[in-house]
Amino acid sequence: MGINQEVLMAEYKAAARAGLSPNRDRRQGKIRLLIVHHYGSTQSPEAAWKRFNSPNDRSVSPNYQINADGSAYEVVPPRHYRAWTTGVIDHQAVTCETQNTSGEPNWGISRASLEAIAQLFAWVHQEFGVPLQRGRVNSDNTVAVPGIVGHNETPAGKETSTICPGPSMDIPWIIARAKQIVNPKPTIDLEDEDTMTRTFIQTSVQGSKYELLRDGSKRLISREEWNAIRALETEAKARGQEFQVIVATVKSADLNKIPTRK
Ligand SMILES: [Zn+2]
Repeated sequence: MGINQEVLMAEYKAAARAGLSPNRDRRQGKIRLLIVHHYGSTQSPEAAWKRFNSPNDRSVSPNYQINADGSAYEVVPPRHYRAWTTGVIDHQAVTCETQNTSGEPNWGISRASLEAIAQLFAWVHQEFGVPLQRGRVNSDNTVAVPGIVGHNETPAGKETSTICPGPSMDIPWIIARAKQIVNPKPTIDLEDEDTMTRTFIQTSVQGSKYELLRDGSKRLISREEWNAIRALETEAKARGQEFQVIVATVKSADLNKIPTRK
């Protein structure tokens, strides 16, 4: 690594380190995806950084290296350059490689790394207009739906039947968390002890949900409110706070016995 790389400013301000790996090309195309990978290895951030910044065995580089401690390193600045991780689709993507915390079969990924990827996704959304949703790529490497995809959902990944990004890469969680980062909507004060555990009842999994209130009455919960409660649960977990949602299925005769509060 030369001294020139040390003085670079990262395009992604949250990046702890800025690089300009030789494993890159001039970008041709518009950024429409975030493609997530795992290393397939627990090797140290320092070893990975060296590998991605040298003409290594497989000429591999991501735009971002996500470490298990939650730090992000910018290996290839994405605005003008595409990295070399996923084949030709990289021209339309910001890509990241994530340090594993364990090997097969789980290929562990730390909670801090998932949070770092959600932060990166929020930035990719704000900077390049990539929507916060699951993406889809056609077999001819055109983008059917812009958003986030795993390596194994791309033509290059399908060709090699890769397991990357592995079973621990929780893409639905990353999407939900990125949405909160972009548009925080706290409807409950998480510091309030009384809201730490909330109990809901329903007559079937698809049926309407009611919150069981402390005065023994019930309150109908809209779908939107339910989604907001689930998002809060995710946010609380990300912050390491206690917040428990209990859902019980009851007979409709029992449900009807509980008075409804408006
Ligand atoms: Zn991969």
